[in-house]
Amino acid sequence: MQTINRSNKFVKENLAKLIYTEYENNGIHSAIDFAEEYNKQNNKQIPFEWCEPCDNVAPSIDHECCCCGHKTKKLKFKFSPQNFL
Ligand SMILES: [Zn+2]
Repeated sequence: MQTINRSNKFVKENLAKLIYTEYENNGIHSAIDFAEEYNKQNNKQIPFEWCEPCDNVAPSIDHECCCCGHKTKKLKFKFSPQNFL
């Protein structure tokens, strides 16, 4: 799977900002929806990883939570929002 982690710094920073804005305005579930929607429309996927401080799966770029900025852990299962929200 191609992930956004391989994109250049500016793409990643922009995307991280958009996700963070979504999180700030509407909470983590909106941030997840945003990333899901992005993934449907783009080949390079925003990874979802486990974030301890968020106590949730979160969109994560370079293993850093886009919502709170903490390090995230790879999931042992394939993320599917239906199982989660
Ligand atoms: Zn987080």
